[in-house]
Amino acid sequence: MTVYFGVDVEEDCPPYLNTWRGITEGLPRLLEMLADEDVRATLFTTGEVARRYPEVIRAAVADGHELGCHSNRHGDYRVMTRTEADADIGAASAALRDYAPVVSFRAPYLQLPSDLVDLLAPHGYTVDSSEGRHKRLGLTVRREAGVLRVPASVTSLTLRWPALIRNLLFTQVNDPIVLFCHPWEYVDLRRERLRWDCRVRTGDQALASTRTAIRFFKSRGASFALMRDAAGA
Ligand SMILES: [Zn+2]
Repeated sequence: MTVYFGVDVEEDCPPYLNTWRGITEGLPRLLEMLADEDVRATLFTTGEVARRYPEVIRAAVADGHELGCHSNRHGDYRVMTRTEADADIGAASAALRDYAPVVSFRAPYLQLPSDLVDLLAPHGYTVDSSEGRHKRLGLTVRREAGVLRVPASVTSLTLRWPALIRNLLFTQVNDPIVLFCHPWEYVDLRRERLRWDCRVRTGDQALASTRTAIRFFKSRGASFALMRDAAGA
């Protein structure tokens, strides 16, 4: 069993907030926990985060995490023209590739219209994780328009669920398992005026819960891998 641990590195809870506490407070806590568990993650990062927080990106790359792309400014590709989407991917890629080679892609909101998938390969991407199995049943890992499409297995909220319910769900998901979370989930947002699913069990509970999820997969013999390695697997 292979587990890909993905982190969507972006502003806090888009499109509801326009703060960056996830980057300054949440991400350091998450990366410290991952280091402690000896897990490397794929950090799907927006171009904007890379421009605002270069030192954060540099440190994460130095720790062995993969740098992936999560659009330029967390725009929604469903409302962009093809030309706009192409320019967005180009701008994001240029910002991110100042720090590392970038070959893995994930669209904001797990929404990449099917007629835009062919934009990825010409920009140097080999893996796309813009789909969610929890959004469309029956999705499998497959090659399409020159990229390997590896759908996310569960919503990010799942990692915050109490272990008992969550582990039951985890036993049902297919290999490979693609987890994802956001840095802002590791900041206490419980009292923010946000959608319920964006604030419930955020902060310490989320961090503890993510750690037990990682240990659950380890106890089942899973190995953790980077998304970029999926294309060669
Ligand atoms: Zn996102």
